[in-house]
Amino acid sequence: MPLYEFQCKKCNETFTKKMSVKEMEKEKVLCPKCKSEDVKKVISGFYSVTSKKS
Ligand SMILES: [Zn+2]
Repeated sequence: MPLYEFQCKKCNETFTKKMSVKEMEKEKVLCPKCKSEDVKKVISGFYSVTSKKS
């Protein structure tokens, strides 16, 4: 599952969220700090996350 990076436009908090493209479409991404929906996706290249396939 890809890891997305977001930045809150209100408090400037950056956070990452692991979600599928489908989840991305139907789920609102909230800032974990101020709970604002006003977040933008930050494209910052690929993360090398070692994930176990289960
Ligand atoms: Zn925020």
